[in-house]
Amino acid sequence: AQAPVNVTVTGAAGQIGYALLFRIASGQLLGQDTPVRLRLLEVPQAVKAAEGTAMELDDCAFPLLKGIDIFDDPNSGFEGANIGLLVGARPRGPGMERGDLLKANGGIFKPQGAAINAGAADDIRVLVVGNPANTNALIAQAHAPDVPAERFTAMTRLDHNRALSQLAAKLNVSVTDIKKLTIWGNHSATQYPDIFQSEVGGANGAAAVDDEKWLAEEFIPTVAKRGAAIIDARGASSAASAANAAIDHVHDWVNGTPEGDWTSAGVVSDGSYGVPEGLISSFPVTARGGRFEIVQGLDINAFSRSRIDASVAELAAERDTVTELGLV
Ligand code: NDP
Repeated sequence: AQAPVNVTVTGAAGQIGYALLFRIASGQLLGQDTPVRLRLLEVPQAVKAAEGTAMELDDCAFPLLKGIDIFDDPNSGFEGANIGLLVGARPRGPGMERGDLLKANGGIFKPQGAAINAGAADDIRVLVVGNPANTNALIAQAHAPDVPAERFTAMTRLDHNRALSQLAAKLNVSVTDIKKLTIWGNHSATQYPDIFQSEVGGANGAAAVDDEKWLAEEFIPTVAKRGAAIIDARGASSAASAANAAIDHVHDWVNGTPEGDWTSAGVVSDGSYGVPEGLISSFPVTARGGRFEIVQGLDINAFSRSRIDASVAELAAERDTVTELGLV
C-alpha cells in the first residue's frame, strides 16, 4: 500500500480550513488511492478550535485518513510535509495600510518558509491561499533557498473558476464546454481574466461573446470583485468555494491538467510575457509530471496587454515594499 502523504494546513481552524479538511481527508485532493496524514497548524489561541475540527474528522471515519496532528509551531507543523496549504494569514484591519498588511504577513510567512526549508519533505509543494497570496508566497519562497522556487505557488484558481462560471452563463453553455481561460497577474482587484484565448465548443470565446462592453464593464469587474459581492450577500467571506479551488489547484498540479486545456495558477515568473522574473504571478499553466509549466507563445492583444501590465505592476510594487521591509 502507498505511504500516506503528509498534508500541512495552516489556519486549520478558520472558515476555509473547515471547508477544506474534510475534502482532503475524503480523498478529493490526491485521489482515492492515496492515504493522507493531516498536520494542522494554528496560532496558540486557535488550537482548541482545531482540536474540535479534528474530533469531527475522526467522527467521519474516513478510510484514507491515517492520522491528524495539531501544532502551534511552524517547525513542527511542516516536519515531513509533502504538501503545504498556507491558508492562515493576517486579514486587513480597518485603516490598515498595505505596507502594514505586508509586514504583518511577513511575520507569518517568513518563519513558515524557513520551517519548510528546514524540515519539509524533498517533494514539498506549497499553495498559498492566505492574502495577499502572491506576495505571501514570495516571502515564504525567499526563506526556503533549498527548495526549488517552482514549488511555491499562489491560488488564482478560484478566480479562474469564477470566470468559467460567468462566461458559461453569458453564453448559455456548460462550464465543461469552455477551455483555455486565463487569469493573469495578482489575486487582487487588478487581476485580469482573459477570454481572448478561450475556446467555447471549438470556437473562440471572445468572438462568441462579441461584446467588448460586457467584457470590460461586466465580466472583468464581476470576476475581480466577486469576493466582495459574496461578503455582501452572505455576511461572511467565501470559504467553500475557496477551499474547492485549493483542492482543484493541488489536484491538477499533482495529477496533470487535461489534454487540450490549461488552468491558472500563481507561479514564479521566468520572464514569460514580460512579467519580471521571480514575481509570483498568475499565468496560463499546464501541469505534467507534477510540474506546472507556463503556456508559451500566446498572442496578447492591446486590450489584454494593458491589463496584464497593470496587475503585474501592482505585484512589482508589493515586491518593492517587502524588499524595503527586509522580508525577502
Ligand atoms: P478564512 O479561512 O476565511 O481565510 C483565510 C485566508 O484565506 C485569508 O487570508 C483570506 O483572505 C484568504 N482567502 C483567499 N482567497 C479567499 C477567498 N476567495 N475567499 C475568502 N478568503 C480567501 O479566515 P478565518 O479568519 O476564518 O481563518 C483564518 C485562520 O487562520 C484563523 O483560525 C487563524 O487563527 C489562523 N491563522 C493561522 C496562522 C498560522 O497558522 N500561523 C497565522 C494567521 C492566522 P482575506 O482576508 O483577504 O479574505
